[in-house]
Amino acid sequence: MTPVEKARRQAVLASRALAASGQGDMIWGHAAVRDPEGRGIWIKAPGWGLEEVRDERLQLVSFDGEVLAGSGTPHKECPIHLELLSARSALQCSVHTHARAAVAFASLGTPLLAVSHEGALFGGEDVPRFRDTGSLIASPELGRRLAAAIGDAPAALMPKHGLVAAGNTVGAAVMHAVLLEQACRTQLDAMAAGHVTVHSDPAEALAKRALCWPPHQLEAGWRYLLRKSVGAGEPPDWKDEEYLP
Ligand SMILES: [Zn+2]
Repeated sequence: MTPVEKARRQAVLASRALAASGQGDMIWGHAAVRDPEGRGIWIKAPGWGLEEVRDERLQLVSFDGEVLAGSGTPHKECPIHLELLSARSALQCSVHTHARAAVAFASLGTPLLAVSHEGALFGGEDVPRFRDTGSLIASPELGRRLAAAIGDAPAALMPKHGLVAAGNTVGAAVMHAVLLEQACRTQLDAMAAGHVTVHSDPAEALAKRALCWPPHQLEAGWRYLLRKSVGAGEPPDWKDEEYLP
């Protein structure tokens, strides 16, 4: 398998894993994998749900927003990925979804607390938020501002819209999106029941982040999501380890 073939396969697997994690919003939301030849990003073509993504439904979109391979126009929100991966050269993957708990939680305007292991992902700091607009990130300028908002963090909330996540591996990016959604879900559940009084302080959250979410744990979670997302009807080679990072 060539590096480009592997990137394409990982773009498919990332999409499937996000769908299996409940991050789908009909045909909206996407994962982008950096092209190993530096030409841009591999991302699903518009019109398909995350669980419907296959190799032939991918596009290669250049950093100028041109479709270099695949058919159709690119997703309107490609600047999210193009600008984020341009700004951070170590990133291999970025994720943008309209995850429901993230949207609901962001609407409360309350800090994300380390209520759970997932909540410790941010080391006792609040999750970054992109506040410039709740509308589509459909221009390079907005993409650059979003990239600045997430900074070096694993993920950020996009109030009135969704979330964005990033990773130096495909698995890390997917896991960061999934963990942020879970952290929001858990805190929402707690807040629905009462006032949150027990959560990790910054020192404990920082220690838990190192213990719970080192790279090998993120990769282990990613592999689980892949096993969960690969349906029984898929060809056997989908389970081959060579597709993993
Ligand atoms: Zn969006």
